[in-house]
Amino acid sequence: MAGKSHPAFKRARLETSKTNRVQRIHAHLFNHKELVCKALEQLESDWAGFCFVKILFCNADKSCSFDRAYCETRRNVQENDADKRRVIWIPDLFSVSTVQGFLDNYEGIGDQLLHKHLTAFEKLAKFLDTISDTNKVLHKQLRDESLEEGQWATIFATHVIRKLAVYSEMIVDSSSSGVTLDSSSSDLAECPCECKTVIKIGDNSMGHENVWHGSVSIVLGPRTASTPVSLDDYGFSEICNSAFDFRSGELEKSQNQYISESIIFAFAMRGRVVPLVAISKTCFKIYMYNRVNDLLYESTTMPLFVESVDGRELNQTSLIFLWMVINQSYFFKGVQTSHVEFNYKANLQDFLGEKRDIYQNHIQIGGLRHVGDRLVKFIAGMNKGKFLRF
Ligand SMILES: [Zn+2]
Repeated sequence: MAGKSHPAFKRARLETSKTNRVQRIHAHLFNHKELVCKALEQLESDWAGFCFVKILFCNADKSCSFDRAYCETRRNVQENDADKRRVIWIPDLFSVSTVQGFLDNYEGIGDQLLHKHLTAFEKLAKFLDTISDTNKVLHKQLRDESLEEGQWATIFATHVIRKLAVYSEMIVDSSSSGVTLDSSSSDLAECPCECKTVIKIGDNSMGHENVWHGSVSIVLGPRTASTPVSLDDYGFSEICNSAFDFRSGELEKSQNQYISESIIFAFAMRGRVVPLVAISKTCFKIYMYNRVNDLLYESTTMPLFVESVDGRELNQTSLIFLWMVINQSYFFKGVQTSHVEFNYKANLQDFLGEKRDIYQNHIQIGGLRHVGDRLVKFIAGMNKGKFLRF
């Protein structure tokens, strides 16, 4: 006789529970349909996009920290040749239609959705339930002009990034956390906004002592860099990783650092296309390096906030896009054939010289705190062609 443990019975029960879950999460997200659809509509338009970046000259083969990384670049959109000035719109890289499809007709699309996709939808719905409280916390903190960049990074990570992430494992770099560590624990601290949320503090340094290295403010997702794992090169892994770096002032001014960080992060993640999110107090942008095809994507600058009668509020379109970036394993479509064929390469290999092996096999995450620069007399912008050896 077939008991309750019969495989067919078990399967039917699992299917029913999945259908219930799909219905429940759909109903939850549907409460925010207007906001989400408006944001998706903007993301489908020319609201923001990506371009390709070519390196003209850089010091990737020198031992230096991200702060001293030098990268003279050109964007394809700056080329004189009109054929080269193409923009990649967000739906070419991220599955905006998956979200729209789930909202429109979950019965048709529900079965194809992975368990993790549903968790991502659920995270977004939960976040939107309390978005006005989050806006109040962020607005209050931003009114404090003495708020340091490190504190802002930790507050934004605690109240936005981690809440939107399917994999909420997050480490805030101790050098940028802006918090005092608990004396009884070397890796736990509280969010500086006094909400008492416990956050994990750690060492987000990455790179190699003989090439580019340094720390990023926040790394989200499991640490896989020290153990080589089998991951495909197109980002469809079950593992979600992204890095966030916070800086004051305009993001454009720190472009050199962000490019070096995104390249090192891609090598640290064994070649997967992983986003590096550059954030200031007002805006953000994304860098992604695809090592296999040597393509460096850079997004336009997107606003974090809009002014409203209640003060500053998170820009809803930016928020939905950030949610897709944070959960990129489910929404990133991978490098498109047309992008490879377009062939606007970063040309990184041209600048690695004998350090190529370090990039391919020895880039690490963590353990580089003590490492200083061995870069001597380097004046950015004044060096043309290859360096002379010291
Ligand atoms: Zn807080």
